[in-house]
Amino acid sequence: MSNSDTKPIIMFDMDGTLLDLAFDDLLWNHKLPERYAQTHGCTLEQSQAELYSFYQQYKHTLCWYSSSYWTEKIGVDVLQLQYDYKDKIRPRLGCFELLDYLKQNGYRCWLLTNADQVGLKLKLETINLTPYFEVMISSQEIGHAKEFVEFWQILQQKHPFDPKNTIFIDDTAPVLQGAEKFGIENLLTITQPSSESPARHALELEYPALNNLTELISILENKTFKVSNVKTTA
Ligand SMILES: [Mg+2]
Repeated sequence: MSNSDTKPIIMFDMDGTLLDLAFDDLLWNHKLPERYAQTHGCTLEQSQAELYSFYQQYKHTLCWYSSSYWTEKIGVDVLQLQYDYKDKIRPRLGCFELLDYLKQNGYRCWLLTNADQVGLKLKLETINLTPYFEVMISSQEIGHAKEFVEFWQILQQKHPFDPKNTIFIDDTAPVLQGAEKFGIENLLTITQPSSESPARHALELEYPALNNLTELISILENKTFKVSNVKTTA
């Protein structure tokens, strides 16, 4: 049995985990309200209030993550807006250092994002994550957001994996809860998803947290994660 058979698969979220959420915050909280106000001839305050009520209504649903849904709903080309500011897309601290380490050490890495397929394409065109991942999935392709256990069930049917020998890292607690419900035991979150917002206190978070992504390397080297691989314990 080769070593990579017993190594955990490392599953990553994209925005707020590998990539700086500052881009998404800028886009959804600042640039979209500005463009919505220009398009509909309203004040910025009215625009913010209307968008906020939409955000509350659709948060954690697949619609929330769909550029085409938003474009239709609010009359602003949201994908174009993302392209207009794509030079603001940045990796998080330690992103490539960690991915290089994982690649060199034979870890299988998967990218699992709630970004829609066109949003994923834009991010991958801008930041070259592709060579590091054997599986890259948008929840749009699965038909359920990562917050729901159905996402994980369908993912496993498409790409078989052992949830007991998997590490999943995501900055959003409801997503980690979905993964936990499915049976993934090794769950990590991120203290500072956006470089423009203050870091969250690790003790206040529901899951163990990384700040610099390279902190995962010592977790892997010291094996301070749970692994119950049936192939080795049988
Ligand atoms: Mg995220």
